Amino acid sequence: MAVDPEMVRALEDSGAFLQGHFQLSSGRHSDRYIEKFNLLQWPHYTEMVCRKMAAWGRSHEPQLIAGPTTGGVILAYEVGRQLDLRGIFAERDPEGGRSFQRDFKIAPGERVMVVDDITSTGEAVMDTVEAVRKAGGVPVCAAVIVDRSGGQIDTDGVPFFAATELTMQTWAPDECPLCREGVPLKVT
Ligand SMILES: [Zn+2]
Repeated sequence: MAVDPEMVRALEDSGAFLQGHFQLSSGRHSDRYIEKFNLLQWPHYTEMVCRKMAAWGRSHEPQLIAGPTTGGVILAYEVGRQLDLRGIFAERDPEGGRSFQRDFKIAPGERVMVVDDITSTGEAVMDTVEAVRKAGGVPVCAAVIVDRSGGQIDTDGVPFFAATELTMQTWAPDECPLCREGVPLKVT
């Protein structure tokens, strides 16, 4: 995997790169944050990103596209539109992980492509992969917009694609230089 210049430009031009002091979902702190919805609010950027994911995913012959809320709702729709397939989404389950609600159904053995926006731990991707399995489907591939993990995502054998890879500096809270300087923290 590598850095895709077209993707970086799209994130920059849409204002998705934010500078400041952020607590990421992993609990670590960073001086940069990607606000994916600054990109996803634009149909032409969303279409471009989903074209990359759809082009890669097509060869795995999915029959259904599924993503985790919230970004995954838009991505599953647009990748599904481009491949002429249904797009559904997995929501947080009160019992942990994610599940398909709202009468979404997956046929036994149905081949499912999982899509997500930005991943640093792979948690939402893998929760969706598990939700697909629980619902009787077969997760055949998974694609994200940005992999922030430095290639560390373990997808349990499911082929994985990122439209771009980006590495950003993060710190444990007690080692964060911005905390030491007293810069106000934004929880993302
Ligand atoms: Zn900090």
